[in-house]
Amino acid sequence: MKKKLVNIFTNNTNISLDTKTELTKKLIDKGYAVTGEFSKDAELIICIGGDGALLKTIHSCDFPECPVIGVNTGHLGFFQEVRPEDLDRFISDYENNQYSIQELNTVMATITTKDGHEYNHVGLNEIVIQGRPSYTVHLYISIDDMPIEKFSGDGILIATPAGSTAYNYSLGGSIVDPRIKLLQVTPIAPMNTTAYRSFTSSLLLPAELSLGVVPEKQYENRMAIINDGIETIYTDVTDIKVKMSDTSVKLLRLKDYDFWNKVKTKFL
Ligand code: NAP
Repeated sequence: MKKKLVNIFTNNTNISLDTKTELTKKLIDKGYAVTGEFSKDAELIICIGGDGALLKTIHSCDFPECPVIGVNTGHLGFFQEVRPEDLDRFISDYENNQYSIQELNTVMATITTKDGHEYNHVGLNEIVIQGRPSYTVHLYISIDDMPIEKFSGDGILIATPAGSTAYNYSLGGSIVDPRIKLLQVTPIAPMNTTAYRSFTSSLLLPAELSLGVVPEKQYENRMAIINDGIETIYTDVTDIKVKMSDTSVKLLRLKDYDFWNKVKTKFL
């Protein structure tokens, strides 16, 4: 009989590598095949590290269809579910189906340049749109093609519910329960003066609406699009559309997982 396959990724710190060695041995003893490379045949991906490591794993596996679980050897570990000292309990709960799947929506930006090319970027946490470093950027913002405002400031961030507790939260955005399907548009250092008028609080958009962003002409020569901390620089951007993506990430959660308890323990 073909062995059940598990892929394990780490952030390569000493504690993560030690945890990987221990976990690999335990899984092999239970009859699993374990590899450190992504395979479409894997039934589970395990990421050992912090939230940053989990984000990198999801991007390197190109948003895998199978469930992902994190073992927290990092700093905060908001996505991470298992403590390194609880590996036996995790394997036992997994084998006895004592878990749930938390389906997390992602956000996608489509960038159109003057030559007509389109580029897509997907984020589990967020998409950030900025101009030149240290300069104000001016962006014409529309919601489902209806012009809303000319934003002036450092940039805008469009967060998923999963990403609401990350950069979005540091900017004063709201924490959103991931069971609610929405996108949160949060301004980064908005200017609100008699010269410039920008919303200073987050806007919440229902899943079916898209956000349009057109950079003012003099800024279109340098736009930074940052998805989950991965920066891409574009020139000659004519238009950016941001909407909820069809791709989702399935996080495996143990049976006592509760979103608001996690918020309480990690933030208060
Ligand atoms: P990093 O700058 O090294 O670390 C960012 C911090 O955010 C880490 O403590 C990380 O947790 C935590 N984090 C990531 N996703 C989270 C989530 N969904 N909820 C709560 N906390 C979360 O960058 P990184 O590790 O590569 O992660 C990329 C993320 O950093 C971006 O998606 C963005 O949200 C965030 N970021 C935050 C700020 C800010 O708050 N001022 C600025 C830039 C980027 P671990 O310690 O467990 O890894």
